[in-house]
Amino acid sequence: MPLVNQSTPAPSLILVLEPHLVGPRRNRIRQRLEELGLAVRVVPGGVQEYLEATGDALPALSLAPDGWPGVVRVISFATEYPHAAHGTGDLPTVAASVVEFGPPEQRVSVGGGHFALMAGPCAIETPARALQLAQAVRAAGAQAFRGGAYKPRTSPYAFQGLAESGLEILAEVRARTGLPIVTEVLDTADIAQVAEIADLLQVGSRNMQNYALLKQLARVRKPVLLKRGYASTVRELLLAAEYLLCGGNHQVILCERGLRSAAGEEGVVLDLGVIPALRRCTHLPVVVDPSHGSARSDRVPALARAAVAAGADGLLIEVHDDPLQALSDGRQALTPEAFRQLAREVDAVRRALRPE
Ligand code: PEP
Ligand code: MN
Repeated sequence: MPLVNQSTPAPSLILVLEPHLVGPRRNRIRQRLEELGLAVRVVPGGVQEYLEATGDALPALSLAPDGWPGVVRVISFATEYPHAAHGTGDLPTVAASVVEFGPPEQRVSVGGGHFALMAGPCAIETPARALQLAQAVRAAGAQAFRGGAYKPRTSPYAFQGLAESGLEILAEVRARTGLPIVTEVLDTADIAQVAEIADLLQVGSRNMQNYALLKQLARVRKPVLLKRGYASTVRELLLAAEYLLCGGNHQVILCERGLRSAAGEEGVVLDLGVIPALRRCTHLPVVVDPSHGSARSDRVPALARAAVAAGADGLLIEVHDDPLQALSDGRQALTPEAFRQLAREVDAVRRALRPE
């Protein structure tokens, strides 16, 4: 005899009720679930009853039923992020997504077995330096040039980026090198302007939960690189991605860039365990930024190799020809020579791990 009756739909939620919860209180909870569109069955227990709910659990889940009076615990078989999820429960399993960006002749693919190396200075400083760095990283094997025109800085006295003129320099770099451009958009007011130049729009760690920005980027026809907030959980990252996906932008790349931690010698710890963790629950590509994830140039190559070995779909690396002169993040910038070496090592790790 089959263990599960195939004609009975699987529950999407189980609410464990407080022991000895009497009829009217239990019924109010049941009624609330029914108002939210779920079919509910009371499962009798010894001292404790359970409510088994069937149907679309999202409306109920969004109201945090684990905090409802009389509810001890909620077991959910439904996902909170149906667009980002791999396909669990009654959702179909989704293959790994490939996100593509850049002009047709220099198309970059990330995810589903495609790997991309993206590199450049933290901030765009001068036209000559940007071009020289772009040529250097391209020669070393980078497929995209990253550089900030709008920089989120801790201090208002620190260099804030060249803004519009930085974007013009990026456009010139792309015209001269053919490299697709990855650059950050900080503010909803700048989206149109940045999206005109950027091939891949970066949302920085500080803005991962800027929902006004995410809602507007959901309507932009350019892919988004969403960096994990440096104090954010995987769930929060996936829900932030969901804002983009459910709003209509399906081209989303996730980026692990390290978490703030007093336990880390440099105040940051790169969490590579997040790569397999994300693989388990999402089809979205996952890249790693070992530059911000280590905050020190001498740590970047080891963490880059480790990220690739852990299955990253790409890397974001900060490079500067004269880190002492850099206007931001010089401490973590690799020189072009060091980047060349890193690119060779990354390639070797990938070849070593590639199935025959
Ligand atoms: C950056 O990429 O230069 C940057 C500021 O990164 P994060 O948002 O991860 O701090
Ligand atoms: Mn930086």
